[in-house]
Amino acid sequence: MIPAQFDYQAPTTIDEALSLLAAHPDEAKILAGGHSLIPAMKLRLSQPGLLVDIGRIKDLSYIREQGDQILIGAMTTHYQIESSAELKQSCPLLPDCAASIGDVQVRNKGTIGGSLAHSDPAGDWPAAVVALDGVMVAVSQAGERLIKADDFFIDLLTTALQPGEILREIRIRKGNGRSGHAYQKVPHPASGFAVVGVAVNLSRADDGSCAASRIGITGVASKVYRAGAVESALNGKPLDEQTISAAATHAADGIDANSDLYASDEYRRQLAKVHTRRAIQAAASRAH
Ligand SMILES: Cc1cc2nc3c(=O)[nH]c(=O)nc-3n(C[C@H](O)[C@H](O)[C@H](O)COP(=O)(O)OP(=O)(O)OC[C@H]3O[C@@H](n4cnc5c(N)ncnc54)[C@H](O)[C@@H]3O)c2cc1C
Repeated sequence: MIPAQFDYQAPTTIDEALSLLAAHPDEAKILAGGHSLIPAMKLRLSQPGLLVDIGRIKDLSYIREQGDQILIGAMTTHYQIESSAELKQSCPLLPDCAASIGDVQVRNKGTIGGSLAHSDPAGDWPAAVVALDGVMVAVSQAGERLIKADDFFIDLLTTALQPGEILREIRIRKGNGRSGHAYQKVPHPASGFAVVGVAVNLSRADDGSCAASRIGITGVASKVYRAGAVESALNGKPLDEQTISAAATHAADGIDANSDLYASDEYRRQLAKVHTRRAIQAAASRAH
């Protein structure tokens, strides 16, 4: 398939990119790794008149620690996150999630910012940033604004980003010594996308019970969601098999589940329950 005709610009600064977006509000689209946008253009599902390639803006690709936060530039690739020795120590959920994405070519080219901005219902990053209570930093010519992960994903392929905005950075709070994370995924056998992906972030109180939990689930619905009923069933309770198994049965409560050739809605709900239980067990075993 051949995309519709488009113009191409490759700015080297974020200000230049923002000017291009402001000057072409109806036709410009940001190009990051291109692993979602280019296929959509080839299918003519997306027909931007201008591609603004942000791949040459140097200060958009980094992983830094600042106080109790981890700062990740939007153009940081899945592979850079997967292979970060610092993140394996400070927030293993991020490299675990990155390692589960597609194949090595996709991980070398695709970016965390592109994946979050795309909000694919089967994308892995949305589950991780929701579980980790991440904050997105969006910039436009009007300035900078912070968007919490809970408010960022609006619907299928739709986020809170406004025209003219670039997702510049993702901020994650580091866990403390008593927190544990895990990502459990059933990959689609052809693409690797999540049929179901469950990210768990929990912490223990001094008595070993669950002090707090956040659970993000992708692949099941039209967008990532927080499994609030599971979190409520865990918080304040002992993290034993009985509590975890009972809590996980609520993984798809109130959710209008997707159905396709590979997985019916009923099967997806069942996968969500099973993998939520496994992800909580794994996270609990890492939280001491
Ligand atoms: C074969 C294959 C397998 C894959 N498997 C998986 C998988 O298992 N799990 C998974 O999660 N994903 C998977 N993907 C998708 C992959 O992770 C993409 O890289 C990702 O979804 C999009 O990131 P990108 O950098 O390629 O963005 P692009 O494709 O360049 O952009 C995607 C969208 O986001 C917008 N955008 C990009 N960056 C920004 C920004 N900084 N600010 C604002 N808007 C922006 C673009 O305008 C576009 O609308 C797969 C893709 C392929 C081709």
